[in-house]
Amino acid sequence: MSKTKSYAAASPSSPLAPFTFRRRAPREHDVSIEIKYCGICHTDIHQTRNGWFQGIFPMVPGHEIAGVVAGVGAKVTKFKQGDKVGVGCFVDSCRACAQCSGGNEQYCDLVPIFTYNARDKDGEPTMGGYSERIVVDEHYVLRMPDSLPLDAAAPLLCAGITLYSPLKHWGAGPGKRVAVIGLGGLGHMGVKLGHAMGAEVTVLSQSLKKQADGKRLGADGFFATSDEATFTKLKGYFDLILNTVSSDIDWSKYLELAKVDGTMVLLGVPEKPVPVGAFPLIAGRRSLAGSMIGGIAETQEMLDFCGRHNAPADIETIPIQMVNEAYERILQSDVRYRFVIDMASLNAS
Ligand code: NAP
Ligand code: ZN
Ligand code: ZN
Repeated sequence: MSKTKSYAAASPSSPLAPFTFRRRAPREHDVSIEIKYCGICHTDIHQTRNGWFQGIFPMVPGHEIAGVVAGVGAKVTKFKQGDKVGVGCFVDSCRACAQCSGGNEQYCDLVPIFTYNARDKDGEPTMGGYSERIVVDEHYVLRMPDSLPLDAAAPLLCAGITLYSPLKHWGAGPGKRVAVIGLGGLGHMGVKLGHAMGAEVTVLSQSLKKQADGKRLGADGFFATSDEATFTKLKGYFDLILNTVSSDIDWSKYLELAKVDGTMVLLGVPEKPVPVGAFPLIAGRRSLAGSMIGGIAETQEMLDFCGRHNAPADIETIPIQMVNEAYERILQSDVRYRFVIDMASLNAS
């Protein structure tokens, strides 16, 4: 077992602070990874603050993990020392249910074992990527694209796949109109990926402050939701609406922007139930759906797609000592467009 430096939340009300714990000794199918970078997902804020449910503390967050293989177990076949690899939101699953066998491990019947704030098969709490190393079974390890810098590729492991999967599932491509609500970590990847797939992409943001960025990322349209005219202008316009917002917004009003048979997909995870009126659903045979990350094979497909289309995340790299400040900026929608922690900074604390 190796001593591992990290940053953890000691309780739901404490800021993140230096913390040391032990990673399990690598087993024969395990890959031992030296973490170079870890993205900060809004989920890390929900979870360290008990926003969704009672968490396991101390909690080391982080599920956009990019690093280099430091060692492999005797039976590992996919990776070798020195490979650039990634780990996303889960590190194991039951491996036997229909979802696991069908490549949808994220929907495992027994619930996948999430990268942090969960318990592994031995009952030990899982600890995430704000740390110097991680040990993961090779089946749940991804190969990072050679053509992308490792820091800017890290957010693909959650923000990238969370948008790629619904874009694919609902058939985004030429001739399809896709709206992305919220231009943050998830949203900016939605714009890049939707554009790369050939869809017409429109950003719905709280204001026009990020308009130039939206266009640069590949958006065809950009509208402020603070302007009521946006909702009259765009009523019934979209085939697919990808909603990344987790705050209290008027869900029915956004749903009406979908055309007949259109779908609004919840990707953001509000801390309270989402109230939706029946009329926007029935008057237009619209669907309200949800989607969570993606399976291992699909995540690899997304990484390769981003490598081919030169679609890394737009990032601001920070030392880990700035993590609490970064959380506050994310809560203010002041992130362009993903914070990534340079893990070398752990040695400075
Ligand atoms: P983020 O970087 O904070 O982006 C969210 C964006 O929502 C903001 O940048 C902002 O964009 C918009 N927004 C914020 N407050 C708003 C408000 N009051 N009204 C309207 N819009 C508002 O967060 P993220 O990392 O992208 O994550 C977003 C959500 O997705 C979180 O709830 C996270 O837990 C969840 N998530 C879900 C999955 C999944 O598998 N489904 C995976 C990862 C994350 P504008 O400034 O453009 O308005
Ligand atoms: Zn995430
Ligand atoms: Zn399963």
